Amino acid sequence: MESTIIDQKEIVKRYKTIDEHTHKGIQGHALFIGGSYGKIGSVCLSSKAALRTGCGLVTTFIPKCGYEILQATIPEVMVLCDAEDKYITEINFDIEPNAIGIGPGLGQEIFTQNAFHQFLKSNNKPLVIDADALNILSINKSWLELLQPKTILTPHLKELERLIGKWKTEEEKFEKTRVFSKQYHLIIVMKGAPTYIVDSDTVYKNSTGNPALATAGSGDVLTGMISSLLAQSYNAIDAAIIGVYLHGLTADIALPKTGYQSFIASDIIKNIGKAYL
Ligand code: AMP
Ligand code: MG
Repeated sequence: MESTIIDQKEIVKRYKTIDEHTHKGIQGHALFIGGSYGKIGSVCLSSKAALRTGCGLVTTFIPKCGYEILQATIPEVMVLCDAEDKYITEINFDIEPNAIGIGPGLGQEIFTQNAFHQFLKSNNKPLVIDADALNILSINKSWLELLQPKTILTPHLKELERLIGKWKTEEEKFEKTRVFSKQYHLIIVMKGAPTYIVDSDTVYKNSTGNPALATAGSGDVLTGMISSLLAQSYNAIDAAIIGVYLHGLTADIALPKTGYQSFIASDIIKNIGKAYL
């Protein structure tokens, strides 16, 4: 399988410098939808990672139980709450985000599944789908038809298997992913060691990252980073490529200080700035 290596050269040609006259209103507004009782941390990680990746504004839609947690953890984030306490039952918002990330900590309650279905029917914003939102799609495969072209899906290998079915060989895994990407016009970020990005017949292989990333919340941070880049008007494939590369690079930068064992997902967020330098 032919792939383009995602290295510094690939990033430099895609990276857009920041205009010195920019302000938060044009720097991009990312909306995150996720969280459920006991899993509010996931969507906190995505939201914070998005801010550290450069978008100007972040709004996060959560069930009510997460309100104080989110406000206290990240004062920079604006919070919208569902009417229900423990999980999301209806996704409605009166803002105009530039991009949306959905799934971290979302849970798979039947009411949440219905809310996600309604959301997909009306959404026309650039979108990243991760975690439980992927699992909900795996249970309701006909909803894949509702996705806009170039929607980004970020499954780890188990989530990928739920979406496309089992494979016997590496070759079969890539072939099934290619067919799936092409059928629904989706960008598939196949998270792993290494991470591959499949955009129809084109495959990219990431060159950064290390086993320190094998830790809770690591994927939630990636969702935040890619959504932030989408909100900053990067096209979908550039957002996926830059997000995956920077995410791995932060872990490479932080590793000498933390070692593999003590590295946690918040360390990725802390080091995004250094990866940008
Ligand atoms: P998730 O399982 O959703 O939390 O996502 C885990 C993230 O960490 C993905 O971006 C993976 O590519 C990355 N990751 C996990 N394990 C490794 C590893 N051993 N080497 C490099 N990256 C990894
Ligand atoms: Mg995950």
